[in-house]
Amino acid sequence: MDLLTPAQTWATREQQRDENAGTSPEPHHAEAHDHRMPLAQRVTMFVSVVGPIVGLIAAIVLLWDRGPASVGWPEVVAMLGMYALAGFGVTVGYHRLLTHRAFDAPRAVRVLFAICGSVAAQGATIRWCATHRRHHQTSDRAGDPHSPHTHGDGVLDLLRGVWHAHMGWLFHRDAPDTAHSVRDLLADPLIVLVDRLYFFWVILGLVIPGALVGLWEGTWSGFWSGLVWGGLVRVCLMQHVTWSINSVCHVWGSREFHTTDHSVNNWVCAVLALGEGWHNNHHAFPTSARQGLRWWQFDSSWLIIRAMERLGLARNVRTPTPAAMRAKLEVMRDPSVADRDMPPMVSHPTGARRDVA
Ligand SMILES: [Zn+2]
Ligand SMILES: [Zn+2]
Repeated sequence: MDLLTPAQTWATREQQRDENAGTSPEPHHAEAHDHRMPLAQRVTMFVSVVGPIVGLIAAIVLLWDRGPASVGWPEVVAMLGMYALAGFGVTVGYHRLLTHRAFDAPRAVRVLFAICGSVAAQGATIRWCATHRRHHQTSDRAGDPHSPHTHGDGVLDLLRGVWHAHMGWLFHRDAPDTAHSVRDLLADPLIVLVDRLYFFWVILGLVIPGALVGLWEGTWSGFWSGLVWGGLVRVCLMQHVTWSINSVCHVWGSREFHTTDHSVNNWVCAVLALGEGWHNNHHAFPTSARQGLRWWQFDSSWLIIRAMERLGLARNVRTPTPAAMRAKLEVMRDPSVADRDMPPMVSHPTGARRDVA
């Protein structure tokens, strides 16, 4: 994951790298063994990941020091409000709208959701979508940027895999030809502009809750506590909830529909990640705007999309037909077929593309 290079520059460079690889007798030889990203990118990623954790620790220490009365409604409202804003930016915007095109929306809505998603500090729009499309193309197989299942089949291997799927992958280079899959987004100048201004949106997402709480309380300390709770703590919680979809929701939970990966449904993740924890449903029907497919599978992002549809802000909303759902349920009833399609566990780090027999 490279957060520093604007998406267009990155895509051009990727394309050149792939073309060179096509003419070179030893394609990707050096890079296949070097998954690390350049130092500047690693430092940026480190700050993006560790900064919010430091914010969370600071918030806990301050709370301990000053007592619960020091955090009031302004901080709570700022945190929940920003969590919803950035969270739906990621789930409805980055994920269902831009990555999977599960519904169509007017341009202004696409841009607004791309900005809200950027505020979550999980990476610039186009790279996020490219990485996620790659995840679906190669799910739990070689080339998957963040599978917990490609480190081996022992218990320790699985734990190493879970760490890799949760955070470790953030420090790896992109797999080759990742940029090919996002030509549609690179062709949209407004999305490219939002992508280029990524750090501006992240900082805005820290300053706005600070300013609002500061004005509400009429003090500078209000500004700082708003920035910590509505900014850093919120970013930290949401980052780990989102990354849990990559780690937890490919290991711990239930499988309802037939898929060719290890994706599972996990209700705790579904509640915290605004509906995205119904991850087995999602891998079974990736272009569905609705991920909680049963009436009891609460999917708050789906409620937002339904409301948008009623307001005329979402069109061509895609959901699986009952027949398609029945077909994938049927396969799961026949373990010989369902198990045959499960991907193998392989003992090598992901990131480089290698063929697995
Ligand atoms: Zn997945
Ligand atoms: Zn997806």
